Amino acid sequence: MLFSWEFNMWDDFIRTLNEAAQGSKEVDVTRWVGEPSGVYTPSSFCSASVLVEDECDNFWSLVWANLTPPKVELLVWRAVLQRLPVRVELEKRGCLNSESCACMLCLKESESVNHLFCRCEVVWRAWSRWCAIWNLHLVCPGDVRSFISSWVGAPISKSSKPVWKLALFEFFGSIWLLRNEIIFNRSNWSEEKLFDSVVSRIGCWCKWKWPEEIVSFSDFCSNPSAMISVRR
Ligand SMILES: [Zn+2]
Repeated sequence: MLFSWEFNMWDDFIRTLNEAAQGSKEVDVTRWVGEPSGVYTPSSFCSASVLVEDECDNFWSLVWANLTPPKVELLVWRAVLQRLPVRVELEKRGCLNSESCACMLCLKESESVNHLFCRCEVVWRAWSRWCAIWNLHLVCPGDVRSFISSWVGAPISKSSKPVWKLALFEFFGSIWLLRNEIIFNRSNWSEEKLFDSVVSRIGCWCKWKWPEEIVSFSDFCSNPSAMISVRR
């Protein structure tokens, strides 16, 4: 039984579930994200409640994480603040008409920041493919800020977390690069190329940051799951 003030929250929750791009054929399960095991415990609830107050201040430390070049972190920062010149924003400013706002990747929906990086079905298949390497299946929260929070909070081992976090930035960088290549250079592209580009960028920066753990860039790209733990 819901309280009256919870009705809108429940509707939003159901709408989010219905709008999520399904990337797995597995059966949905309820999972408590406060514990790596996914099992609810009262102590983890108390810990999570205390941490919520610090979440706002801590969020930006996720963005300025010093894992990738500053220009990529800047891109993510602008995406969180919805300050990128995507087609919806250009249309608001009279630079494009509404018929020209379609996302260049899926050609189905308008290109907003949240659509381009999270909700686009093409992009989400790439995110899901990377998650599958880690045996994870995520549901897209729908907006960039929530997505980053849930990505960083994913149940990944401590030793693998740096690579997992770095991948987030390289995805953003690759998606933006591909989008610009399509629009300005009319480049040929495919979902396979997008994913390969992301893995290459992740491999490149992992090799640069952790040269001793990532022995071979080409080995990483051919089988990233084989070497996803680093010391930090
Ligand atoms: Zn799209």
